[in-house]
Amino acid sequence: MDKFDNYIGGQWVAADKYVENINPSDLSDVIGLYASASKEQAHEAIDAAEKASEVWGASTPQDRFNALDKIATEIFERAAELGELLAREEGKTQPEATGEVMRAGQIFKFFAGEALRLTGELVDSVRPEVDVEITREPVGVIGLITPWNFPIAIPAWKIAPAIAYGNSVVIKPAELVSGSAWALTEIISRAGLPDGTVNLVMGSGRVVGEEIVASEKVGAVSFTGSVGTGEMIRNKVVARGGKIQLEMGGKNPLVVLDDADLDTAVNCAVQGAFYSTGQRCTASSRIIVTEGIYDRFIEKISAETEALRVGDARDANTQIGPVVDEAQFNIDMNYVEIALKEGAKLVCGGTKADCGKEGYYMKPALFIDTTPEMTINKEEVFGPVASVIKVKDYEEALKVANDTEFGLSSGICTKSLKYSRDFKRRAKAGMVMVNLPTAGVDYHVPFGGRKGSSYGNREQGSYAKEFYTIVKTSYIWAQ
Ligand code: NDP
Repeated sequence: MDKFDNYIGGQWVAADKYVENINPSDLSDVIGLYASASKEQAHEAIDAAEKASEVWGASTPQDRFNALDKIATEIFERAAELGELLAREEGKTQPEATGEVMRAGQIFKFFAGEALRLTGELVDSVRPEVDVEITREPVGVIGLITPWNFPIAIPAWKIAPAIAYGNSVVIKPAELVSGSAWALTEIISRAGLPDGTVNLVMGSGRVVGEEIVASEKVGAVSFTGSVGTGEMIRNKVVARGGKIQLEMGGKNPLVVLDDADLDTAVNCAVQGAFYSTGQRCTASSRIIVTEGIYDRFIEKISAETEALRVGDARDANTQIGPVVDEAQFNIDMNYVEIALKEGAKLVCGGTKADCGKEGYYMKPALFIDTTPEMTINKEEVFGPVASVIKVKDYEEALKVANDTEFGLSSGICTKSLKYSRDFKRRAKAGMVMVNLPTAGVDYHVPFGGRKGSSYGNREQGSYAKEFYTIVKTSYIWAQ
């Protein structure tokens, strides 16, 4: 069985402990043994990053462009192979996985260009003969803690801006899916960066993650994952005066109005709710439908959900891969039970799917006759489970859409300019989609939410520099 080590200070370093990376489509398939770092190794990685930050922080925009561009080029060249690894370890389908790898490449390309575009400002002082310069500097060492649902794209959208703006990083990927982060780091290790600029410490959140969060040497922490872990990390980092950025859950609404194109609305709902096995923070989990289109919508979405082909992530016929692991599978099934107990009507799915091999296969679950107060409409499931809420009109739909602790992505299907414009302005979410699924975003624009979904600066696009740089104001008297 192949063993995969941590990458610290420019060296591949063995660990005392290794964990199996298991394919959720086929539990007999072990992808490899991945290092599970100790607290000491996490310390070593932070020290290496601190040392490297002096060197990399002084690099030229050309050095940064060259490294990021090289990484992007190799990711594109190896997209099919890396996509297969991703599908095998996380369970999203091969096209989804290859698409995610391509996205990682696009992000590195984009931030290669951003490294050349970082500018400052020169302004006149209010005092005579004095100039004021406003410049941006690297933060120093950035700690990155990433989840299992986008094993290469999320590490990419944190590492790329961090190094483009001259920081060094310590990344701890989710232990469940270390393979893609390891493969990305291996590519990065040959990009000409000074030793210690990017350090990979695979291992558990409670061991490695907590060390990163606690270290005074880590100037900023960027986290994506669950609300509970995110809030706990925020409190610790803020208490020690560090910078923090959190991307957490969602309970994203998709509003369907009477005048919507039925095919578009059903396509948005099915795509948004069930693709990537519903394991996206931008998934549409509350489908809010006005009464004039309700019956036609339910008939069509039920038929299309029922017809979705669940199976092995690497099988070309599969549309919905397995749930990522046993714990998440049990969480999903538990929410199905809760919904049934609270009176929701299950129109399809919600059971284990038999796909001829041992894996965490679940038939996508669609509930109707649900009310906004039900648990299924309050808490994030993070699986192939969606519920429909019937409402009278647009105003009620908007009220229900905003009635949540989260605020990541909010969608509407309508041909009305009046309603789409109003929704865009009044939806309490970081991202609004009109006639598009709530999931599926571009890489060159900001990503993030409001309320319980996010905290701190936006990720991605040129907005990423707000988190990954510090502003300095210099006053110069021409004596
Ligand atoms: P977690 O929030 O537990 O994990 C996210 C990352 O944080 C992982 O790398 C994890 O490490 C790490 N971590 C865990 N505990 C700590 C800690 N004490 N200190 C520092 N880092 C820590 O999410 P899970 O993966 O357990 O998923 C649970 C739920 O979170 C899902 O059901 C879903 O609702 C939500 N989620 C949301 C995501 C999103 O994109 N918004 C993505 C993934 C999950 P480890 O390797 O040990 O897990």
